[in-house]
Amino acid sequence: MTRTTERIDLLGLVPDDARAALEGHFAGRGVASYRARQTLERLYAGLAASFEEMTELPVAEREALTVAFDLKTPGVARVQVSADGTTKHLWRMEDGELVESVLIPSGDRLTLCISSQAGCAMACVFCATGWSGYRRNLTAGEIVAQYRGARQWAGENGRGAITNIVYMGMGEPLMNRGPVMDSLTILNRAYRVGARRITVSTVGIVPGIRELAAREEQFRLAVSLHAPNHELRRKIVPVEKKYPLPELVESLRAFDAAGGRRITFEYVMIDGINDAPELADQLAEIAREFRAHVNLIPFNPVPGTGWEPSSPRALRLFAGRLDAAGVNATVREPRGQDIAAACGQLAAEHEMTPPRPFIELTAGR
Ligand code: SAH
Repeated sequence: MTRTTERIDLLGLVPDDARAALEGHFAGRGVASYRARQTLERLYAGLAASFEEMTELPVAEREALTVAFDLKTPGVARVQVSADGTTKHLWRMEDGELVESVLIPSGDRLTLCISSQAGCAMACVFCATGWSGYRRNLTAGEIVAQYRGARQWAGENGRGAITNIVYMGMGEPLMNRGPVMDSLTILNRAYRVGARRITVSTVGIVPGIRELAAREEQFRLAVSLHAPNHELRRKIVPVEKKYPLPELVESLRAFDAAGGRRITFEYVMIDGINDAPELADQLAEIAREFRAHVNLIPFNPVPGTGWEPSSPRALRLFAGRLDAAGVNATVREPRGQDIAAACGQLAAEHEMTPPRPFIELTAGR
């Protein structure tokens, strides 16, 4: 049995393309087309990781599929379970690249946080992933594989079904648009995760927001704002120089106009950096226009920053000001800090080098 060198990863195709590829394959072998549906059913609903386990197919067909198609399944390099039940998986891709995903139980919800890139090029000064640098984009198959693997693990460990997916792991999803857009289609149509239960979180990549706005499914959008004005934002979120706030806000208007989906703003609260009460008023101005929900995230310590999360009092004051301005705000409870699984702590064991803006920002304090 000779294998063609470049077998296509069937798990990375959107379902229509996967079906067409399988139908073509079976037609070429003179096999009835219902076998294509059967194969997809086992891959999607059954989470099959190989064709060998599809015992309802004749042996010769299992072998022929193995020759024709790849099913890329990343290896589990490590699983860590936090005291609060949060579970972090470290996945090893075929080329050895490492990425993390996090399962977060909360009441009757089980949220999966997935990575879209190995590393990240955005260099936000408060984020460990940013410090570790950019390595490469993930394929659609590699993004979906984190869901397949985590769902399998959750099933085997009595955690129940994954109810929500957030693109808040490593990487900037809208800097990897093609594969991310395909992964959304696959999760929604193949694995039946409702679009309203999938959130794409972005640092504010304007063309990507516009592309998401144009999609007919109701995927949700979270925007990592972290500062309500250009001057402050450009110091902590470098991409602000490329897509300044007015442009970002304009793209959010397009998203809003597309209808039906409320935007969430994320705001990391760092002691003495971006938590002054008057900033809450500026943030409220922006949030009010979109009737947006604001998620205040107490800064999760990243080794070497020297920064601290805002005090409970500063958090209360800030949230109170937002509330008084008619903005719905919640403080996000840190989860999985003991295993470095909280927001901004995912670095997949890579070396971290502090980026320059961090040094400029702390020098004057
Ligand atoms: N690149 C995307 C998604 C990944 S980050 C984005 O920027 O939205 C997911 C969230 O964690 C973002 O809101 C990010 O700003 C936040 N985050 C990063 N570092 C953090 C830290 N040290 N403490 C708390 N939240 C952090």
